[in-house]
Amino acid sequence: MKYVRVLREGGPVWGVLEGERVHTLSKAPYKELAYDGKHLDLKDCTLLAPCEPTKLVCIGRNYYDHISELRDMVDGSGTPEQPTLFLKGLNCLNHPEGHVGAPEFVTRLDYEGELGVVIKKRAKNVKAADFADYVLGYTCLNDVTARDIQKADGQWARGKSMDGFAPIGPLVTDEIDPANADIETRLNGRVVQKSNTSLFITGVAKIMEFITAAMTLEPGDVIATGTPAGVGPMKCGDVVEVEIKGVGVLRTYID
Ligand code: MG
Repeated sequence: MKYVRVLREGGPVWGVLEGERVHTLSKAPYKELAYDGKHLDLKDCTLLAPCEPTKLVCIGRNYYDHISELRDMVDGSGTPEQPTLFLKGLNCLNHPEGHVGAPEFVTRLDYEGELGVVIKKRAKNVKAADFADYVLGYTCLNDVTARDIQKADGQWARGKSMDGFAPIGPLVTDEIDPANADIETRLNGRVVQKSNTSLFITGVAKIMEFITAAMTLEPGDVIATGTPAGVGPMKCGDVVEVEIKGVGVLRTYID
């Protein structure tokens, strides 16, 4: 199943995507699919971030190849013994085809292409074997980062949580395998990150167990699962695309 959130008459509405047609719902698809009997053509829709999070929970280091490049860029640390968690504020939430920029004091604004996990029911103390029961589906996410600020501050809140720093979309699907998904980031059409989620240090099942042992995840919450090697800077006028096979392309314009 593929889910989207679109604008209709100025407000958000959830829908199920079948081919090029969006069958709209009267409420979010977390518990059941409540079709409202209407439909829209995808080409006429403005897509919104396909989630309604109370929090964005992010994994800091989850691909072996990214750790070695971070060692030089940020803090010199090695492979974590357990997932490194941080949060992005809801002010970060950004839509497909969205724009993002940074204040003038930021000297390095990076893309981080990631697999996003959208939660469908309240999750607390979830066992890894049961994780799929709690997942609505998977999406693309760009964990936009002010790298110079992340490095200077030590704490990541300011460098990771500026306005619009989490473009998410274009849809959520449960039709991909989160343990074997091709992920690619392109900057102005040039491939800058290319990997597969089979290279995760900690997979989605264990991530769910680790997070929910500590905090309750609510329907619509999002987990950003970490980025592979190849992170790099963006500048004003750039177009960055995160593509996950089976999900689609999340395009963002840099202001
Ligand atoms: Mg990241």
